[in-house]
Amino acid sequence: MKFTELGLVPEILRSIADQGYETPTPIQAQAIPVVLAGRDLMACAQTGTGKTAGFTLPILNRLAASRLTGPRKIRVLILTPTRELAAQVEESVRTYGAHLPFKSLVMFGGVGMNPQISALRGGIDILVATPGRLLDHAQQRNVDLSGVEVLVLDEADRMLDMGFIHDIKRVIKLVPKTRQNLLFSATFSDEIRTLAGSFLVEPEYVESERRNTAPDLVRQYVHKVDRERKRDLLVDLIRDNGWYQVLVFTRTKWGANGLADKLLKAGIEADAIHGNKSQNARTRALANFKSGKLHVLVATDIAARGIDINELPHVVNFELPNVAEDYVHRIGRTGRAGTEGSAVSLVCVDENKLLHDIERLLKKQIEVVAYPDYAPDPSIRAEPILMRSAGTRAGQRSPGGRPGSGGQRGNSPRAPSGTGKPAVGSHRSGSRHH
Ligand code: AMP
Repeated sequence: MKFTELGLVPEILRSIADQGYETPTPIQAQAIPVVLAGRDLMACAQTGTGKTAGFTLPILNRLAASRLTGPRKIRVLILTPTRELAAQVEESVRTYGAHLPFKSLVMFGGVGMNPQISALRGGIDILVATPGRLLDHAQQRNVDLSGVEVLVLDEADRMLDMGFIHDIKRVIKLVPKTRQNLLFSATFSDEIRTLAGSFLVEPEYVESERRNTAPDLVRQYVHKVDRERKRDLLVDLIRDNGWYQVLVFTRTKWGANGLADKLLKAGIEADAIHGNKSQNARTRALANFKSGKLHVLVATDIAARGIDINELPHVVNFELPNVAEDYVHRIGRTGRAGTEGSAVSLVCVDENKLLHDIERLLKKQIEVVAYPDYAPDPSIRAEPILMRSAGTRAGQRSPGGRPGSGGQRGNSPRAPSGTGKPAVGSHRSGSRHH
């Protein structure tokens, strides 16, 4: 199938050609006709499948096909869980809508509201927002959602994980009852099914990858290592193999910071991104990583979610995630678009059960590869995994990155630490002309 067979307007085909894309990805081939037909859609698709264009292209096409006269109203509302994802989606709207006259705006918290208010006053066709800031504007009557024709929930599973369900319900009350709804999610959990049941009307279901499968092109393996030696092993791995673009996952924000510091001290260009970092710092770190200036980006699951990095060669699970599905999300960032990638997990004795859970989900064992000089000490016993840094400071932690006394344990890794809401910050707030 070619893009030209999908019935898209010439302006959109032109921007697709500008990007050098010829063939729609499987999710695009399935989703685009459904959205063009005005149907509701439930799509199971992970980042890296081309899902963003899967909804952005047909939505732009629908707007182009029925241009309204009179003052601009927000006709499309796209909700995302994180500011990074919001910024990326809006970027795609601009890219694919480059030859169309629509205006888009990305909106999230952590920055002043005034620039967003002026942008809204200037008239917007497509709004990409995180729920919290959107509701703040709605409460202050800065935003009029009465003209919304299409509502998209992107990465809906993550929005639910982050506790956004009530915010989503409040937003749904603000948009017209008759509208087109699109729901994108990486998983089909029971919660997602419930949300889909209440939100979508006679939806079409499309699925791009089988649920919970890891990409075939990723070589997955495990190095067993003592918890206190993980940092040294990571330094050696990066140096010995000459790795240059490595995304490293930690469970906690403080763990990410400590690890980035350790790498820097070892002379490896590294930075950390997580919810406590300012938006500017996160954007800068990501740009430096993409351009190759930074060799290692250390990230928590939530911060890394939705980050679009093409053909990432190496993902390291410095710590295994507590939720096995997150492992699949993490390693889905490598081995994309036909390039091979590696996903290595550093597993200490505390994490054997997590590894077992992951293998059960994958329905296969992950190869264990011994790394010279790092064989685990068999006398070390497993300890409970501590998730939060409440009451402790980074300086109080042991070199292995585990908190000393005072850390809480057993907190859900999916719940953002702190307020129960993700930290929302700002990036761009100006309107975009197409
Ligand atoms: P997404 O899953 O939306 O995050 O997209 C993943 C990456 O695939 C992005 O960098 C897109 O620019 C790229 N992409 C999207 N559609 C296509 C396509 N049809 N052909 C090649 N690359 C694409």
